[in-house]
Amino acid sequence: MQEKNTKLAIVTGGGSGIGLAITEKFVAHNIRTIIIGRDRQKLDAAKDRLGALCIPVAADLSDLGAIPALVQDITTRYGRIDILVNNAGINLKKPFTEVTDQEFQQILLTNLTAVFALSREVVKQMAHSGSGAIINISSMAAQYGIPKVIAYTASKSAIEGMTKAMAVELSPQGIRVNCIAPGFIATDMSAKALDNDPERKQKVLSRTPMGMLGAPADIGDAALFLAGDAARYITGVVLPVDGGNSIGF
Ligand code: NDP
Repeated sequence: MQEKNTKLAIVTGGGSGIGLAITEKFVAHNIRTIIIGRDRQKLDAAKDRLGALCIPVAADLSDLGAIPALVQDITTRYGRIDILVNNAGINLKKPFTEVTDQEFQQILLTNLTAVFALSREVVKQMAHSGSGAIINISSMAAQYGIPKVIAYTASKSAIEGMTKAMAVELSPQGIRVNCIAPGFIATDMSAKALDNDPERKQKVLSRTPMGMLGAPADIGDAALFLAGDAARYITGVVLPVDGGNSIGF
C-alpha cells in the first residue's frame, strides 16, 4: 500500500528515453512510479538506477484485453493512482504509398487505442478518489506536416483531440488532462529517424530557434509541473517543449 504523502504514478514506456527521464524526475520528488514496457531487462535496469520508488511492470500495452486486469492489479497492490503519463509510443518512417494497412493499424493500436484503453481503466480508479492528473505525449508531427510518418502523425493528432475531450469530460471528477508536445529530443527514437538522414536533421535544427535538440529531462520537468499542484488550474492544454520548433521559421 501507499505510504503517507507518497503519490503513485504510472509512466508507460518508463524504461527508456523520455519516459525514463520523466520517471527520474518523479522519483526525485518522492513519487512512487510504476514503469510499464515490454522489455523486462530495460525496466529492471531503470529500477537498478532509480531505486525502490521505481516499480517495473512488464506488459505489452497493445494487448488491450489485458489492460483492465493490469490496472486492477496495480490498484490492489499499491493503492490509488494519482498520475498517469501516456508516454509509450512507436514510430514508422516510410513513404506514404508504402505503408500497409497492418502497419498503420499497429501504430494506431500502440499510440492511440492503448492510450484510450489504459486511460479509461485508470480514470475509473481516479474517479473513486476524486482527483488525478493525466499527461499525454504528442509530437511536432501534430503541429505541422512532416513527410513519411503518416500513421504516427494520425495517432499524435488524435492524442491532442482526445486530450481536450478528456479534459472537458473528466474535470467534474477532479481529473486534469494535459498534453506535452515534445520537439526533437535526443533519444533512440529520434536517432533512428534523424541519424541516417542528415538532410532531415539539418532541417530540424534550422527551424528550431534554440538551435539544438532537447534533452529527455526537459520533458521530465514539464511532466512534473503538469502532474503537480502548481498546475492545479491547468487542464486541456498542449504544451510544446520544443526550443521553439513549432513556431520556428
Ligand atoms: P523510446 O523508443 O525510447 O521509448 C518508447 C517507449 O515506449 C519504450 O520504453 C518502449 O518500451 C515503450 N513501448 C513501445 N511500445 C510499447 C507497448 N506495446 N507496450 C508497452 N510499452 C511500449 O522513445 P522516446 O522516449 O523518444 O519516445 C517516448 C514518447 O515521446 C513517444 O510517445 C514518442 O512518440 C514521443 N516523442 C518523442 C520525440 C523524440 O524526439 N524523441 C519527439 C516527440 C514525441 P519497450 O520497448 O520495453 O516496450
